[in-house]
Amino acid sequence: MIALPTYSGETAIFGLGRSGLAAVAALKAAGNRVIAWDDAEAPRQAAVDLGAEIRDLTQDFGSAERLIVSPGVPLTHPAPHPVITAARAAGAEILGDMDLFDDALAHSGLREKVTLIGITGTNGKSTSTALVSHMLATTGQNVHQGGNIGTPVLDLPLEAGATYVLELSSYQLDLNKRFAVDIGVWLNLTPDHLERHGDMTGYAAAKANLFADGKARRARIIGVDDEHGYALADRLSKDALPLITIGAQNADMIYLTNAIEVNQPKKDIISLADCAALPGAHNAQNAAAALAIGQVLGVPTARIIEAFKSFAGMAHRLQVIADHAAVTFVNDSKATNMEATRHALAAYNNIYWIAGGRAKTDAAGQLGLDMLTPYFGNIRGAYLIGEAANLFADNLSDRLPVTICGTLDRAVADAALQAKTDHFDASIVLLSPACASFDQYADFEARGDAFGAAVAGWISAEHALSGKAEGA
Ligand code: ADP
Repeated sequence: MIALPTYSGETAIFGLGRSGLAAVAALKAAGNRVIAWDDAEAPRQAAVDLGAEIRDLTQDFGSAERLIVSPGVPLTHPAPHPVITAARAAGAEILGDMDLFDDALAHSGLREKVTLIGITGTNGKSTSTALVSHMLATTGQNVHQGGNIGTPVLDLPLEAGATYVLELSSYQLDLNKRFAVDIGVWLNLTPDHLERHGDMTGYAAAKANLFADGKARRARIIGVDDEHGYALADRLSKDALPLITIGAQNADMIYLTNAIEVNQPKKDIISLADCAALPGAHNAQNAAAALAIGQVLGVPTARIIEAFKSFAGMAHRLQVIADHAAVTFVNDSKATNMEATRHALAAYNNIYWIAGGRAKTDAAGQLGLDMLTPYFGNIRGAYLIGEAANLFADNLSDRLPVTICGTLDRAVADAALQAKTDHFDASIVLLSPACASFDQYADFEARGDAFGAAVAGWISAEHALSGKAEGA
């Protein structure tokens, strides 16, 4: 159990998901007085079992001195959540679990004995975090991975000499007051989560919190493939802290411009050939981030490239799940926005594209499908599911063959049958929805698993058919 200080007065916790409950447990273990609330009954009971008192903090904030809030709770947009308004009125400090992690490091005297790496960006956070953890683990380092991926930070063990690779969402960074990493990575920024941050300026500012006030002193690693990263790198280059800009030269090559010595930038280019789990220019950006971190930590480039080759990739992100009769089935359920799907459509030819779900539209109700136009030549047909099926069809039907399927089962069956009928040398049935999953599934993992089950069902029906044909 992570060792937190004993704080003065009451600590309020709002939002009892995994990280909220981890905070309750860690605070109680250090003898704190904890008042917790969640709208749902089951997590409230879990908090009581951990020793918390229960109070509806939106109705009665009381005299708590600080509020630990779940990252999903809006601070400003579309409007501050009532618990935030109540905490502000009471003069309480509003913190996230990353701040408590920072307190735990200071309290245990370990802050200078560990290495903290924080990775943010609109897309690629999880892949880069997993890749960096894998790379460092293959060089024998004691690595702990967590944050917005997998284990909440307060459930991680604190150990001298360890390296912590932390995925940080814009929500976590928005909340963060004091937590500072040693090495901060900004991969990219494209429109997403605007309902929470108001606009792109607010979204960029939340993420840039990773580098505010001289944070990330050992290295700031910035993806400059989009205008926001470019502008940030330009701004950060004005101070004396180390800055490395990274980018994808093309799908196979990545580059680092090492501007640590400002007047002698060094350009380092390596090839990603043979790195099977890192397809596409977007993964080149992730690899560039990992390469930069490896270099800062002194890992020899040859070892880094070996680690890229042995990386297994991640479930639900351009994950090849099956091959049948020259048709490859790729699960990219994690592509919940246009930008992620854009990269998927750029990575293949002869795509039978399954898309849809709960649409992420802009303020004008637009899907933003235009950014996919350059890749329509790679698409043989679009198979549309979920709430957004008709909206997608309205935007696509004069440009692509479109089938409204409704469900994933039907989409897999229609797409696979068409791929089989067209019979190209190689084709891809791709789930890359460009939408959230919540209209039909609990989350993107459940959607990806459902895709896997539908594909397995289709392939076994095909085997049964060909068995019958052979037997006939
Ligand atoms: P995150 O954790 O930021 O959501 P993931 O690594 O889970 O990112 O990938 C999310 C989606 O974005 C996947 O569909 C993946 O193929 C795509 N993707 C991965 N890396 C990048 C990148 N650097 N730029 C754009 N899209 C990416």
